[in-house]
Amino acid sequence: EPVNGKYTVSFIRGDGIGIEISEAVDDIYKAAGVPIIWENVSVAPYINKQGKQSIPDEAIESIRKNTVALKGPLATPIGKGHVSLNLTLRRTFSLFANVRPCKSLEGYKTPYDNVDTVLIRENTEGEYSGIEHEVVDGVVQSIKLITLEASERVARYAFHHAEQNKRNRVTAVHKANIMKMSDGMFLHACRQVAKEYPNIQYDEDLLDRACLRIVQDPAPYADRVMVMPNLYGDILSDMCAGLIGGLGLTPSGNIGKDASIFEAVHGSGPDIAGQNKANPTALLLSSIMMLRHMRLFDHADKIESAIFRAIAEGDRTGDLGGKLGTREFTKAVIKRL
Ligand code: NAD
Repeated sequence: EPVNGKYTVSFIRGDGIGIEISEAVDDIYKAAGVPIIWENVSVAPYINKQGKQSIPDEAIESIRKNTVALKGPLATPIGKGHVSLNLTLRRTFSLFANVRPCKSLEGYKTPYDNVDTVLIRENTEGEYSGIEHEVVDGVVQSIKLITLEASERVARYAFHHAEQNKRNRVTAVHKANIMKMSDGMFLHACRQVAKEYPNIQYDEDLLDRACLRIVQDPAPYADRVMVMPNLYGDILSDMCAGLIGGLGLTPSGNIGKDASIFEAVHGSGPDIAGQNKANPTALLLSSIMMLRHMRLFDHADKIESAIFRAIAEGDRTGDLGGKLGTREFTKAVIKRL
C-alpha cells in the first residue's frame, strides 16, 4: 500500500555486476519519477545460534513488510555448508511460481523476430525436491515429488496471469505419456483450475513436441501462457531465452504467498564485474514486471519503451555487439524517457 503516494520496495543489490546494474535502475527510476522508495537490504549470510547459515532477519522482515522486492544476482560461495541464498529466499517466502517472459527485441536481430512466450514454472517441488538416495551400490533413486496443492497453486497463477496480461490460452506442458501419475496429477490440477476460467482456452502439449514447435516457429506461442513442472520450466525457459539473444535480456519474477521477488535470470558476471560492461536490461525488465505486478502500468510502459527504443536505435552494451558501457546505456535510456 502506498504512503503519501509512494510505495516502499525492498532492494537486494546483489554481488558483482549486481552493484552496477542496480545503479542503472536507481538512475532510470529517478529520472522517470517512479513513486517508489527503495529499502536497501543485505542478504549476506551469517551463522545463526543453531550453527546454521541464515540470511539476516532485517532482510526477511523488510521483504515480509513490503511484500515486493527487486533482487540483483547473488554469487553462491563455493565450499561446503553453504546453502544457496536463492533457495533460502524461495523457501522463506514460498515463492511457488517462477514467471519468465521472453520477447524478441525490435531492432536487435536474432534468427527470429517474433518470439513472445510467457513461461510459468512450478518453483518448489517436482524434480527439484532434493530427495535422492542410493538403494544399493551403483543404483540411486531421485524422487520427483508432485502434490495436488502445489500444482493447483501454480496452475491458478498461470490462468490469473493470462487473464491479467490479455493472453487467451493456457498450455500445460508435460510428459504424462511417460510419467503417468506425477505429470498426470499436474494435468488433472490444470484441468480443474481451467473450469474456473471459462474465458481462457486450455490445452496440453508434450514437452518434446513444444520444444520442436517453438524452434520451428515461435509465432503461435504469442497468444498464451505455458505452465509446467519445475525441471521442464528450467530447460524450456533457457531455450526460449536463447531465441531472443541471451542472458543480458531475460527477466523473471518469483511469485509467492507472502511476497514476490523479481530478478534477472543471469548471475553476478564475475568476469566483467566492476568494469562498466554489464547490460542492465534484464534487471530493468524484471523491475518492469514488478511495476506491472504493483499495477503501476504507465510507469512500466514508459520505461520499457525507452529501453526498447534505445536498443533498436543502436545504443547497445557489448553483449549485444554495441560500444556502450553500463552507465552510457543508462543515459541513453534516460534520454528517451
Ligand atoms: P553469469 O550469468 O554470472 O555469467 C555467464 C556469462 O554471461 C558471463 O560471461 C557473464 O559476463 C555474462 N553475463 C551475465 N549477465 C550479463 C549481463 N547482464 N550483461 C552482460 N553479460 C552478462 O553465470 P556464472 O558465471 O555461471 O555465475 C556467476 C555467479 O552468479 C555464481 O556465483 C552463480 O552461483 C551466481 N548465479 C546467481 C544467480 C542468481 O542470483 N539468481 C543466477 C545464476 C548464477
